[in-house]
Amino acid sequence: MDDKLTTRCTFCQKRAPDVSKLIAGPGIYICDQCVQACVEILEQTAPSPEEGAAQLPSWHSMADAELLSRLPRIAAVGTQVEGSLQRWVGEARRRGSSWASIGESLGMSRQSAWERFAGNEEAA
Ligand SMILES: [Zn+2]
Repeated sequence: MDDKLTTRCTFCQKRAPDVSKLIAGPGIYICDQCVQACVEILEQTAPSPEEGAAQLPSWHSMADAELLSRLPRIAAVGTQVEGSLQRWVGEARRRGSSWASIGESLGMSRQSAWERFAGNEEAA
């Protein structure tokens, strides 16, 4: 299998065979070790309701090199999600879904859905 398509934890990038469990989300995955790290973070801190909101990375305190070093990981997540979307659309097509219904589901035209996902599939 193409390494880009190997199922891996979206958070730490470990491959499925290298972790005990991998839990699927919408196009992403999290491994048992990352879940455990999340549990530990949640146990350490008891945020107020305002602090409980999602915290964005602090770009202000981040050196340029660190910011640049994170870009490939974010791009890899994009590639992973796109691969998942391709496989889900492929399954929808295998089940007989039309390009119009796939496009409607994704908020795009039939033509846009076909152009983005048809790949080697014959025009239908
Ligand atoms: Zn992980």
